[in-house]
Amino acid sequence: MALMDAEKITQLREKLLERKRKLWREVKGQIKTGLGESYQDLLETARDEEDQAQVNLLEETQFSLIEPKRQELVAIEEALQRLENGTYGECEGCGKLIEPRRLEIMPETALCRDCQSQKEKIAKASSR
Ligand SMILES: [Zn+2]
Repeated sequence: MALMDAEKITQLREKLLERKRKLWREVKGQIKTGLGESYQDLLETARDEEDQAQVNLLEETQFSLIEPKRQELVAIEEALQRLENGTYGECEGCGKLIEPRRLEIMPETALCRDCQSQKEKIAKASSR
């Protein structure tokens, strides 16, 4: 499905990659200050921001401070994947198109506003 022209897709990809690089810098900074020398190895291997494996690697750190950022990195990876597949902009919950304004603010989101608030409600209920 051709939701967007090539130029728009290129712009979005750039936006997502930039966000990803910024997050990686923050994550690495937090690992360094939070865990110190013992995670030097992780920092070494996580040098390449373009590698999906690095995101998975973060999962093993069990470092709660970076968890929100790790989740965002995963979301960005998935958004990039959807850009490749041509399904970007479709809600994963209901299949409708996500509001353009919402994508403008959160280009990595996979859910429309309705599905997002639904998901948050469920998360809240199950964390009780
Ligand atoms: Zn939806």
